[in-house]
Amino acid sequence: MSYVIDPPSRPAVCVLDSAAKFAVRRIFCVGRNYADHVREMGNNPKSEPPIFFTKPADAVVESGAAIPYAVNTSNLHFEVELVLAIGKGGAGIAAEAAPEHVWGYAVGVDLTRRDRQAEAKQGGAPWDAAKAFDNSAPVGAIAPVAGGAHLNKGRIWLAVNGETKQDADLSDMIWTAPEIIAHLSRSWTLAAGDLIFTGTPAGVGPLQSGDQVRCGVEGLAPLSFSII
Ligand code: MN
Repeated sequence: MSYVIDPPSRPAVCVLDSAAKFAVRRIFCVGRNYADHVREMGNNPKSEPPIFFTKPADAVVESGAAIPYAVNTSNLHFEVELVLAIGKGGAGIAAEAAPEHVWGYAVGVDLTRRDRQAEAKQGGAPWDAAKAFDNSAPVGAIAPVAGGAHLNKGRIWLAVNGETKQDADLSDMIWTAPEIIAHLSRSWTLAAGDLIFTGTPAGVGPLQSGDQVRCGVEGLAPLSFSII
């Protein structure tokens, strides 16, 4: 096969204690998945099914990066999230079977242009400008599922310049990871290489140039990056 242009490089994420990387195919994200965050955004947590949006695969940024403050916003927000790394694809996956599709877990940040999101919500417009921009998906090293031990509880937190901003527990998620995979795979065929951002707890807020962000999920490698 030859191409008329140089083919784009394949986005990938580090794997804990491995020289091999996890090749990224698609990035799916869940909106409104922790009751406190749903309330802080002015919505009722129990009234709606999970909502999904996507980011381009090349939005991934590895831990330790210096990320330029995003263009086209004056209200760039952090949202710490548990990320599922899919190792086995499928459609119409039952929640009971979903864990075997997860290759590993990581912590990620769903960087958001909150001003563009507010406009999109008000105008009934798509969220792409709010969510799917360059460098909008920092992801830490993926920890392979070890011995079938899946993550369904544990602290999830984020600190800016050493000050804790988000601090919750995975058990507070409205939709569990298996339920998310079940819902998502009714609308999209999942495949190895897909990442799923599972939603953020309360405490989201703005970032400024010069900020140092550090975040984690209990049992996973922390993720850190700076905004320049
Ligand atoms: Mn999010």
